[in-house]
Amino acid sequence: MRVERAIPSGACYGVQRALSMVDDAFAESGRTGLRVCTLGSLIHNPIVVRELEEAGARVVDSADELDSGILVIRSHGAIAGVADGARARGIIVFDATCPHVAKAQMAASRLAAEGRFMVILGEAGHPEVEAIRSYAGERAVVIQEPEELPEFDSNERIGLVVQTTQSQDRLTRVVAALKASFDDVAVENTICSATRFRQEAALSVAEQADAMIVIGGRNSGNTTRLREICEGACERTHHIESAAEIDPSWLVDCEVVGVTAGASTPQSHIDAVIAELEGSK
Ligand code: SF4
Repeated sequence: MRVERAIPSGACYGVQRALSMVDDAFAESGRTGLRVCTLGSLIHNPIVVRELEEAGARVVDSADELDSGILVIRSHGAIAGVADGARARGIIVFDATCPHVAKAQMAASRLAAEGRFMVILGEAGHPEVEAIRSYAGERAVVIQEPEELPEFDSNERIGLVVQTTQSQDRLTRVVAALKASFDDVAVENTICSATRFRQEAALSVAEQADAMIVIGGRNSGNTTRLREICEGACERTHHIESAAEIDPSWLVDCEVVGVTAGASTPQSHIDAVIAELEGSK
């Protein structure tokens, strides 16, 4: 059995930057004695979040829970005004909003200011999407599929921005549906390159694999998208968070086992899975 890892896969620039900012926040805590908090889970990886909590980082749902301290904004970003509001109250803010997410926020703000009705392609309720939506004004809708588009006046001017981890295939379908109904559709393809490269590499490996292992948080949007893409090419696709979940029966009669990992999966988790698979040969 051969283990084939998709390249690239695993922790992206934005996640590594967020983890590095948490280290900076802990250093600041060491100097000031202030407690480190993250606004929501820093990344969508339960194992990493647990490790951060054990190191002393507290997860808060709202900046309003703090009177003082150190607040880390995660790579998914925060609702418009939250970081500035916290700073105004004397809280030390480390803003780890990924630059790709910030670009989507700014695009939503600019297109909404042009008077466009905003369509956000993404998962409703996902923190990145809710943050982007907060920049898109009152006239905005979040959809995942073209069928979810509301009834619009055909003269409406439309702006489209995309959750950074969506698939290009889904975006293509939504753009086609919008352009079939409206003359003026401004599209900002804000899918980040890290996502696109990971999806392309995962598909390429899944197409030649007998079984495919996708590593990452079950609450991670980009990992879920990798699983969906791999399932389309390889029936025996399994989504796991850690090496301990590997079931030997998945590997029966496999010549090639593919491995990929979401953008919030640390290298050490990937190494552990590959070691487990190599040990099962
Ligand atoms: S997946 Fe892309 S947008 Fe999300 S944190 Fe990584 S680099 Fe940034």
